[in-house]
Amino acid sequence: MADTENRPTNFIRNIIDGDLASGKHASTHTRFPPEPNGFLHIGHAKSICLNFGIAQDYKGLCNLRFDDTNPEKEDIDYVHSIQDDVKWLGFGWDGEICYSSNYFDDLYGYAVELIEKGLAYVCFLSPEQAREYRGTLTEPGKNSPHRDTSVEENLALFEKMKNGEFKEGECVLRAKIDMASSFMVLRDPIIYRIRFAHHHQTGDKWCIYPMYDFTHCISDALEGITHSLCTLEFQDNRRLYDWVLEHISIECKPQQIEFSRLNLEYTVMSKRKLNDLVENGQVEGWDDPRMPTIAGLRRRGYTPASIREFCKRIGITKQDNMVEMGMLEACIRDDLNENAPRAMAVLDPVKIVIENYDADKVEMLCAPNHPTLDMGERELPFTREIFIEREDFRVEANKKFKRLVLGKEVRLRNAYVIKAERIEEDDAGNITTIYCTYDDETLGKNPADGRKVKGVIHWVSATRCIEAEVRQYDRLFSVPNPAAADDFTATLNPDSLVVIDSAKLEPSLANAAAEQGFQFERLGYYSRDNKAQKLTFNQTVGLRDSWAKIEQA
Ligand code: ATP
Ligand code: MG
Repeated sequence: MADTENRPTNFIRNIIDGDLASGKHASTHTRFPPEPNGFLHIGHAKSICLNFGIAQDYKGLCNLRFDDTNPEKEDIDYVHSIQDDVKWLGFGWDGEICYSSNYFDDLYGYAVELIEKGLAYVCFLSPEQAREYRGTLTEPGKNSPHRDTSVEENLALFEKMKNGEFKEGECVLRAKIDMASSFMVLRDPIIYRIRFAHHHQTGDKWCIYPMYDFTHCISDALEGITHSLCTLEFQDNRRLYDWVLEHISIECKPQQIEFSRLNLEYTVMSKRKLNDLVENGQVEGWDDPRMPTIAGLRRRGYTPASIREFCKRIGITKQDNMVEMGMLEACIRDDLNENAPRAMAVLDPVKIVIENYDADKVEMLCAPNHPTLDMGERELPFTREIFIEREDFRVEANKKFKRLVLGKEVRLRNAYVIKAERIEEDDAGNITTIYCTYDDETLGKNPADGRKVKGVIHWVSATRCIEAEVRQYDRLFSVPNPAAADDFTATLNPDSLVVIDSAKLEPSLANAAAEQGFQFERLGYYSRDNKAQKLTFNQTVGLRDSWAKIEQA
């Protein structure tokens, strides 16, 4: 039995506990079966954490299987990105990577077995006719005129299909089940179709490809899967899953169990839709930091631990629901609050000249990298000219404004107390420089005469700072459920990316490693981009939940 500390509980794990207790299974064997037709998204992370998490906790096995029966839509690049993402999330598969296409010979053999048993036939109805014959939810279907073709003839026809003697779409192989079944999936479903397509694993060996429902259950059984976990939309397909395994000679009978998919507000979660965004250039690629893909979240600054924690918090149930973005963000915020070093950056700078500070003096001040944990310290150059955030200064303000006000004092984070003496403006009335004085008795201590200085603001040296591009992100879509719109791309948020070309950063950030996260003090969490040539930081998440606020506005 697994160690039970920190183990999630859910209805699937309860079923497994029962199966192990009753002796139905001696151990667990799960699988994660993506189709390599796009990058993985956060919904897949839910399935990954479930399947690999069960293997970890029960000391079982978990396969990575590429469900690759759609050669036209699949690509070897996706095969690679999916492996990267699973590993990055902190999981590893047992044994070799599996491909459904490894089983094409077996699958062909089982299809022949069904034909031999009189349980499959080659059908020549056109797609339009087949739709007519299928019936509706309220009306039974009609038998295909090809349903009673003899076994011998079907064997010969299927052989011809395999040999490329029919055109694409001319015929299909169908299972002979029940055209009156209340489960549409059992109305003589297609199990093989013709596709003259090059396959990324099997090349041009095949021109017939098995359908998902036929492939999946047999692949599971061939791999000795005990519990085949999938999302709710396959509930009805379970009838077909069980039917196929019941009617072919195969020992292993995996149990399919469905759970609800993850839906996340303000984004879409289907590879097809995400692919549209990439293809139409509406994002910069699958790993655009606004994308809900694992690669996008990674570039945005999410950590593997934060995504695993999110999957744990949402849990596994059979209830369909929509998860708030705030819930995902809370996970990375909690992680980075604890683990990210602090740094200072000024995104919208206004210059300060400290008139009583020597023009050529540079003082190296020490600042702790974390307020509570021991993460060491770094040096901050302090100089006569510094930048502060434009919105941290006002000519006049009431007491609630705890920042710099003309004629008043404020503390510079990790440095001195300064007082704003006068300002300089351009012709348009924009402040160009704020002239200040500093109190050299206030480094690391309060003013000696008991003056109270309430506010603390961040700053960087104007002469010793470095410049970087900072990308500020907002939700990718402007409605909570873009998938419900007629055209989901019409609901894209036009302001989802704001690029700041030359933000001013403290010099220690020049050495930031790719994907290293920081708290830019008072601004939020940022992570060094893993792709851009020039120094670039992506905003990961704000310091507080801004979604809740937007909801009320
Ligand atoms: P998509 O529409 O995004 O392509 P899919 O279900 O077709 O989704 P697959 O590559 O077939 O994608 O999925 C691999 C596994 O991940 C499946 O077991 C599937 O059920 C699971 N999965 C996919 N999307 C989600 C989701 N949103 N929430 C939970 N599990 C998911
Ligand atoms: Mg799919």
